[in-house]
Amino acid sequence: MSQAVNELPQRLLMGPGPSDADPRVLAAMATPLVGHLDPAFLALMDDVQSMLRDLFRTGNAMTFPVSATGSAGMESTVANLVEPGDGVLVCVNGVFGGRMCDVAERCGATVTKVEAPWGKPIDPADVRKALDLVAPKIVAIVHAETSTGVLQPLEEIGSLVRDAGALYLVDAVTSLGGVDVRVDDWGIDAVYSGTQKCLSAPPGLSPVSFSTRALEALDAREGKVQSWYLDITMLRKYWGSDRVYHHTAPISSIYALHEALRLVMEEGPEQRFERHRVTHEYLRDQLESLGFEFLVAPEYRTPMLNTVRIPDGFEDADVRRRLLVEHNIEIGAGLGDFAGKFWRIGLMGGSCRIENVDRLVSALRNLS
Ligand SMILES: *Cc1c(COP(=O)(O)O)cnc(C)c1O
Repeated sequence: MSQAVNELPQRLLMGPGPSDADPRVLAAMATPLVGHLDPAFLALMDDVQSMLRDLFRTGNAMTFPVSATGSAGMESTVANLVEPGDGVLVCVNGVFGGRMCDVAERCGATVTKVEAPWGKPIDPADVRKALDLVAPKIVAIVHAETSTGVLQPLEEIGSLVRDAGALYLVDAVTSLGGVDVRVDDWGIDAVYSGTQKCLSAPPGLSPVSFSTRALEALDAREGKVQSWYLDITMLRKYWGSDRVYHHTAPISSIYALHEALRLVMEEGPEQRFERHRVTHEYLRDQLESLGFEFLVAPEYRTPMLNTVRIPDGFEDADVRRRLLVEHNIEIGAGLGDFAGKFWRIGLMGGSCRIENVDRLVSALRNLS
């Protein structure tokens, strides 16, 4: 017999995602199925959409969870808005900006990059220069870059994008549920997130939202959307008012997201952001006392993803392995040039608790 999943170890997830799901979210997933066109399920969909609009701070009707992980949200926003030959300006200062370039190129975009070194934010002056040079259809940027821990200010760049007549596409996979994401105020036209970061539901859905301008651009397309599965012109007939079958909704995942969003609303978004900020500051003080240094300048740090230089006395792979097997704590390794030199410590959603920081820090004291 193969091993049953309930024999798996219980980890504390303090890496770059997934984060710890609340028992209420896990229990929701075990609810018996109803059909994806059952009136009871349609009411649940309305509820999910309405809570997502509240959290994204948007009035966008076309706000719903794409049936796959955050990367599918990326593909969905890009594939629906890009036609072959369209210019896309992508801001790149880490892994996920790089992934957006790849996705946009696969959709036939002509990609221009605005770059900043890993660990630094994108400079609005660089975006302004690039906008003057290439007049793109879309400007794409990552809000919280999970490979580095940079929190990108979005508002100033948003007004540059709007002035240039372009569409503003934002990756809010790691930020949503941990810091404020103000879709309407910041002039965002297309945004995607993920469920397993600060929303603390299991991976498998990608909340997205499209503005009226984005839907107008979609309606003005010459050709079909390159992806059948992610085509908003069809999906809006299921997630919009008609409720016509497109593909079978991942019912149990939507149960889980519904419960996770209820938890966010019960806590209150503002209180949740405050919890992330306070817990991050507590972690920062503890880690600095152990000799860790932060990669990112204080004003650009994400509270939910802490990239720290590993001090002498800690052997990267060995300490991470022992944290996992001896203490049941997962943290993230450095990516790219940061491998072996930095760790990424997540404080996302349900994992973001003072007692979890204490558990990690006392384990680290044992292992140094
Ligand atoms: C995790 C992440 C993604 C990709 O999401 P998946 O759920 O792994 O597909 C995209 N962008 C950012 C910023 C992320 O942190």
